[in-house]
Amino acid sequence: MHFHTKNIHFPNKEKAKEVSKTKPIYQTSAFTFTDFEDMEDYYNGEKSYLYTRMGNPNSDDLGKGVAELEGAEAGVASASGLSAILAGVLAVAKTGDHIIATQDLYGGTWSLFSSDLQDFGIEVSFVDMEDREAIEAAVKENTVLLYSESITNPLLRVEDIEGLAQIASANNLKLMIDNTFATPYLIRPLESGADIVAHSATKYIGGHSDVTAGVVTGSAELMAKAKAKVGMLGSNIGPFDAWLGVRGLKTLSIRMQKQCENAQALAKALDGLEGISKVYYPQAASAQGNGAVVTIELDTAADIITFSKNLGWIKVVPTLAGLETSVTYPVATSHRPLPEELREKLGVTKQMIRISVGIEDERDIIAAFEEALKETLHKANV
Ligand SMILES: *Cc1c(COP(=O)(O)O)cnc(C)c1O
Repeated sequence: MHFHTKNIHFPNKEKAKEVSKTKPIYQTSAFTFTDFEDMEDYYNGEKSYLYTRMGNPNSDDLGKGVAELEGAEAGVASASGLSAILAGVLAVAKTGDHIIATQDLYGGTWSLFSSDLQDFGIEVSFVDMEDREAIEAAVKENTVLLYSESITNPLLRVEDIEGLAQIASANNLKLMIDNTFATPYLIRPLESGADIVAHSATKYIGGHSDVTAGVVTGSAELMAKAKAKVGMLGSNIGPFDAWLGVRGLKTLSIRMQKQCENAQALAKALDGLEGISKVYYPQAASAQGNGAVVTIELDTAADIITFSKNLGWIKVVPTLAGLETSVTYPVATSHRPLPEELREKLGVTKQMIRISVGIEDERDIIAAFEEALKETLHKANV
């Protein structure tokens, strides 16, 4: 099957088993049994569900759906992207182990790695993932995991996953990739040698800004470990949220296709405009498109607050990936936890705006940004 077909047909493959065309919501905390012997079958592995914290048909559906699109053996859904990342990390690393992570991380992951994991006794080194020598120099005897993002935030650097997979296998490390920005529609890291892929399903997988969710995918062996962590940390996703995640996932490919086209057009239209000093947009992220996020840097003549006040119908949010075009201010939101020196070193500046491009007509999107820019420059000149 091609991606668009696979995307819409993954759930409810069994044709006759259920009467309902969509998966029912198993809004239950537990499952019942005929007797104690029957209940024992759960522990024997003959039955799948016992208690929702340990597993539920709706959360399994979300995990399986993303796993299928990523080309993974298994997937585990959880209550958020961060909990999925944590479950994936803990499937590989324990106290006393060491992780090498990219320095240009999503801020929440940066906090988790630089503070909470250290509290668990898991050490993390942050390196420039484009510097192969720096990665190799950071490898220690207790290093178990290499961690990066397929398309980074907000600078939209496209990671060389195959190159990282070579380093990982040469050093006997597992490779984990946060594929939130790319989604499997654009990039499938497991096909390039990664071992684990994590998603904030709050973003493109869910796609409608109505659910907080996460998914981690990989081999059946690693995902069994990740699933046990989600159960024991109590970071399972509720049945309705999982159902919303699946409902969103069904239209992933068609949303991404449109959002990528709009983003490509917007990046082209903004490039070279007066008031914009730089447009960040990937050139060759994948054959299907280059992502739905465009980052711009205003020049110092254009006041960033004035710009944000003149965006008309474009929403100002702390996040990305909804159906509607929105903007965020990375230094104040996603990258707030990063130390200022690191932000400066990375080039995440105070004049930078990250645009999450929606499914509207590209002409309206472009016009709204041109108008905001015109107003901002006009106000600067009076
Ligand atoms: C939002 C985000 C996360 C965290 O996901 P939550 O669902 O908010 O927990 C992780 N990685 C990236 C790249 C993100 O954009």
